Amino acid sequence: MRVAVIGAGVAGLACAVELAERGAQVQLLERAPPPLSGGRTGQCSWFAGGMLAPWCEREHTEELIATLGAPGIEWWRRRLPSTARQGTLVVAQARDTLELTRFARRTAHWQWLDSAGLQQLEPELSERFDRALFFAEEAHLDPRAALAALRERLLELGVPVQFGVDAHASALDAEVTVDCRGLAARDVLTDLRGVKGEMLLVHSNEIHLSRPVRILHPRIPMYIVPRGLGHYMIGATSIESEDAERITARSIIELLNGACVVHPAFGEAHIVELGTQVRPAFADNLPKLRWHERTLYVNGLYRHGYLLAPMLAQMAAEAVLNDACYPEVMDAHHRQRRCS
Ligand SMILES: Cc1cc2nc3c(=O)[nH]c(=O)nc-3n(C[C@H](O)[C@H](O)[C@H](O)COP(=O)(O)OP(=O)(O)OC[C@H]3O[C@@H](n4cnc5c(N)ncnc54)[C@H](O)[C@@H]3O)c2cc1C
Repeated sequence: MRVAVIGAGVAGLACAVELAERGAQVQLLERAPPPLSGGRTGQCSWFAGGMLAPWCEREHTEELIATLGAPGIEWWRRRLPSTARQGTLVVAQARDTLELTRFARRTAHWQWLDSAGLQQLEPELSERFDRALFFAEEAHLDPRAALAALRERLLELGVPVQFGVDAHASALDAEVTVDCRGLAARDVLTDLRGVKGEMLLVHSNEIHLSRPVRILHPRIPMYIVPRGLGHYMIGATSIESEDAERITARSIIELLNGACVVHPAFGEAHIVELGTQVRPAFADNLPKLRWHERTLYVNGLYRHGYLLAPMLAQMAAEAVLNDACYPEVMDAHHRQRRCS
């Protein structure tokens, strides 16, 4: 089957790989120019933290995110060996310890650590925190390395990837189109909205953390993700706004304040990059596969694009090639038409 995939974010790349590996004749079309080392406007996937945190995310999401997300960790470990499964630590300042208890009540797959336990995992945190939640099975990856690994895989599979092409399903000569345009698909998916996220990349030789650390705060929960060689991603705001251009001073102050509570040496870190993008989300913040005639839309990955892309891509490939139906990611009216 000839399948065109539109959009080379994490969703489009994962779908193209899964389709091509099942024998489809795939072409991938991306509006942005070929990836260089600089930032990529219009692509949410470029600015992500890269946390694969199905159980932490349960705090503010439906069970479905954990169910779809958990198998994604092994998918990434197979395709990107640098994916680190070292768990996630969740901490809070002494005055916010109730937040930690509340977080524990709403999540699963964790254990409590005291400062001796913290000393073993992240010695530099044990002086500042005497309690933490540890989600041992969670993982993290470098999103930019992950995108490159999937592009590399497409090259091996002989899938042509065209950059600089502003594609639309109606103009393509393919039997089926898989539309992974993220927020740009709002011309068809009119119920899609954008949720802005701001982030920083910093560098410090004074900080040695080997796993993502989340700090709870009633107003601005934030996290730090190690990227190796002294680099750390600090993220992320979550604002109901579609302004993908401006980064506010307040957001950066708040993110850095949180980082300095985790480790004061973040105050001396060098700022390498500031970034912002808009996450594509539906009203219920859950991902969807939606058919419109011969086009399958894969969208609404919201805060979980890296976590969910593996499973959604497998579902999309089975839906396209074998007419498979997945009620859990389909709207009720589509379910009736497709799954009967
Ligand atoms: C600050 C921040 C932190 C995040 N942290 C995490 C995290 O830790 N873990 C996690 O799992 N997720 C995280 N996310 C969420 C994740 O980044 C998104 O869910 C994911 O990137 C969405 O991917 P996508 O492929 O749907 O969209 P996009 O990455 O936006 O890709 C869509 C692509 O379609 C292209 N396109 C648009 N229109 C056209 C057209 N007409 N023709 C051709 N191409 C087109 C665009 O150029 C773009 O490349 C984070 C997001 C942000 C902003």
